[in-house]
Amino acid sequence: MKQRKITLTESEIPTHWYNIMADMPNKPLPPLHPATQQPIGPEALAPLFPMELIKQEVSTDQWVEIPDEVRNLYSIWRPTPMFRAYELEKAIGTKSKIYYKYEGVSPAGSHKPNTAIPQAYYNAKEGVKKISTETGAGQWGSSLSFACNLFGIECEVFMVKVSYEGKPYRKVMMNTWGAKVHASPSQLTQAGRSILEKDPNSPGSLGIAISEAVEVAATNEDTKYALGSVLNHVLMHQTIIGLEAKKQLEKAGDYPDIIVAPFGGGSNFAGISFPFLQDNLLHGKKVRAIAVEPTSCPKLTRGVFRYDFGDTVGMTPLLPMYTLGHNFIPSPIHAGGLRYHGAGAIISQLLRDGLIEATSINQIECFEAGVLFSRTEGIIPAPEANHGIAEAIRQAKIADEEGVSKTILFNLCGHGNFDLASYEQFLAGNLVDFEVSQADIEKSIAELTTPTI
Ligand SMILES: *Cc1c(COP(=O)(O)O)cnc(C)c1O
Repeated sequence: MKQRKITLTESEIPTHWYNIMADMPNKPLPPLHPATQQPIGPEALAPLFPMELIKQEVSTDQWVEIPDEVRNLYSIWRPTPMFRAYELEKAIGTKSKIYYKYEGVSPAGSHKPNTAIPQAYYNAKEGVKKISTETGAGQWGSSLSFACNLFGIECEVFMVKVSYEGKPYRKVMMNTWGAKVHASPSQLTQAGRSILEKDPNSPGSLGIAISEAVEVAATNEDTKYALGSVLNHVLMHQTIIGLEAKKQLEKAGDYPDIIVAPFGGGSNFAGISFPFLQDNLLHGKKVRAIAVEPTSCPKLTRGVFRYDFGDTVGMTPLLPMYTLGHNFIPSPIHAGGLRYHGAGAIISQLLRDGLIEATSINQIECFEAGVLFSRTEGIIPAPEANHGIAEAIRQAKIADEEGVSKTILFNLCGHGNFDLASYEQFLAGNLVDFEVSQADIEKSIAELTTPTI
């Protein structure tokens, strides 16, 4: 029989996360204070995050041990399976080998619990009673609700209003795991009220929801904030994906030429690719790592590299990043998890140094890839995940045209069982492609008063 599914045992769950900061030739520039624009130290983050996560955020240790309790909870769904996509390969008639790592087996249905569990754990250890956060498509909010509940922490989620209205079952999931969920912008925060004053019908955005969640944490003594992507410690927690993938490919006697993952804030892309990039940085390997963003939110391929805020109102520290500007509101594509204006500091530095690649794909091609994948491999992917599949197919076709065979690994970061409304729209022929005009990008960037680099 063909080896289709490559599994690991629980004892093979990695014991350490990989921190690429240790091996980067150029470290990211420091974060700046939002008001003074001067570099900040770790203590400035203390109102928002527990100390252990702040330490991880600035750590340059190559390996960080995964606490036993976290590793133990990981085993609820980890190790996750890897598959060789034989049926997809056959359907596109490629000579290349396509593998995918499947993160949709987690309780929340995506990679997000990989960081939600340790974040809730470190907060609980430091006595935090409540965590506030934002969610776009609902993946992060549900993952954190699940994790907080395991540690007896209250969880309050600001959910981007369009998703709140369009994805009622994600909200019910969060409620089932015990969290409170508000449509954002809300009347509960200064940030929300100021947006609603200007635009009572605001559909919301991730940037706005972050402002609300940060405000709740900053103004309540017993509350901390958690972010599901972008930050260094989040990317590090997600390396569990790539570390497992490496062991699995080793079992299959293979090694990737190309790694592909969808890109929102960078966490699942970092998760699958960083452990392999370490081989590039230290051992002369030449794996290509390609981040795939939607054409409607092209910060990596068309944004500028400069300091910017992580949120819309301008409350977070300034981070060096590829950004479309923190006021940029992307078109309402169905891949809600990819509608974020910026990228993390590590990813941005790696891209600037030419150590990773980025591309963008329109939503119709992504859904075509997702439907082909469903009809061959069976799993219905999250709309975000379709971006990785579409690029994996593109790369296989390029290899075929060049008459070579490549080993391609992509991250199937989540399933789309709660996203069927978007498939319904696609199948009915109602989806449209969105290309941002250069004028819109320039307008948004021209509004920035943050430091250039
Ligand atoms: C959150 C999310 C993303 C985007 O976030 P990254 O940090 O870039 O990974 C992509 N896919 C799914 C399924 C998500 O839940």
